[in-house]
Amino acid sequence: MTVLKQVKFDKINSVITEMLPLEVRELQPHEVRVATKFMGVCGSEIHVLHDGHPFAKPPMVPGHEVCVEVLEVGSAVTGIQVGDPAVLDPIMACMECPACKREQYNLCEPPQVAGFRAPGFGKSELVVPAHNVHVASKSIPMEQLALAEVIACGTHCVDRVPQENRGKVLIIGAGTIGLSVIQAAFIKNFKEIHVIEPDPGKRKLAEKYGAYATYAIGELPEDERFDAVIDVVSTQATLAQSLVQVRAGGTVVIMGVPSKPVELNLGPVQRFERDIRSSGMYVSKDWDVAVEWLKQGLFKTEDMITDVFAVEDADKAYQRAQEADSIKVLIKF
Ligand SMILES: [Zn+2]
Ligand SMILES: [Zn+2]
Repeated sequence: MTVLKQVKFDKINSVITEMLPLEVRELQPHEVRVATKFMGVCGSEIHVLHDGHPFAKPPMVPGHEVCVEVLEVGSAVTGIQVGDPAVLDPIMACMECPACKREQYNLCEPPQVAGFRAPGFGKSELVVPAHNVHVASKSIPMEQLALAEVIACGTHCVDRVPQENRGKVLIIGAGTIGLSVIQAAFIKNFKEIHVIEPDPGKRKLAEKYGAYATYAIGELPEDERFDAVIDVVSTQATLAQSLVQVRAGGTVVIMGVPSKPVELNLGPVQRFERDIRSSGMYVSKDWDVAVEWLKQGLFKTEDMITDVFAVEDADKAYQRAQEADSIKVLIKF
């Protein structure tokens, strides 16, 4: 391979695919060289493309959801072989701070995530630290493996709900991440999964993935109470609703990225021990869970991958990802 194919947001609202001469540098002992196979397009990248992201701005290389094949391993790397299929954790942890020492790389501040503050993964070949590489089973189709990041988000999120509140749960929002959270809750045996989602097609998918009941906006009775509410939207309206519909002693998990400050009525939260938690990305074990669920066929991917574009058509992939009926759009390298 002598050409590096690279997806680039060259300016605001513009995506190009660059062909560059491939520069091969020698690996450090703890590094791994990989060939990118598929990359998922994420909603957070669309915000970057439109210049609506707080710290990532074009021009830049996007990409944080990739599956790869291992090309070469550094001299000190163990457990990773040439030819292994793998997924890459995009969190470029400092490995020095108290959070990193606890192996909570998702809490390393400021977060260095590939495709945001750190260089994106949208290249045909990458060199990454070995601890960012999670080897997968060869039995998993590569295309499906590209969903591991989304699954890691889902499993981490439902683990934020304490065991005693895993009965009747309300999940607000059934986009890509919402559907992953629904599947994770189902796989982890939450008793009754209720879902609010405006799009009828996505409501149908939510039911297919184990939802007990689904509602369009405004359909859920206000006096219905839940052991836990997972808000994958996190606007003023949905967070206020979450606090109304969670029972006394229940848990609200903020999963969606709030785009601005919200005002909440904390009186009933304090008096009745309604706990507010949050879920931010994932930790190492979540990747192993994601890969295992794919291997066992527990996590369903068929309807979640709506489109696959060649890397040369990366601009079309980012266009398609902005249409309401797309779920996960992949770019094939
Ligand atoms: Zn993402
Ligand atoms: Zn750190």
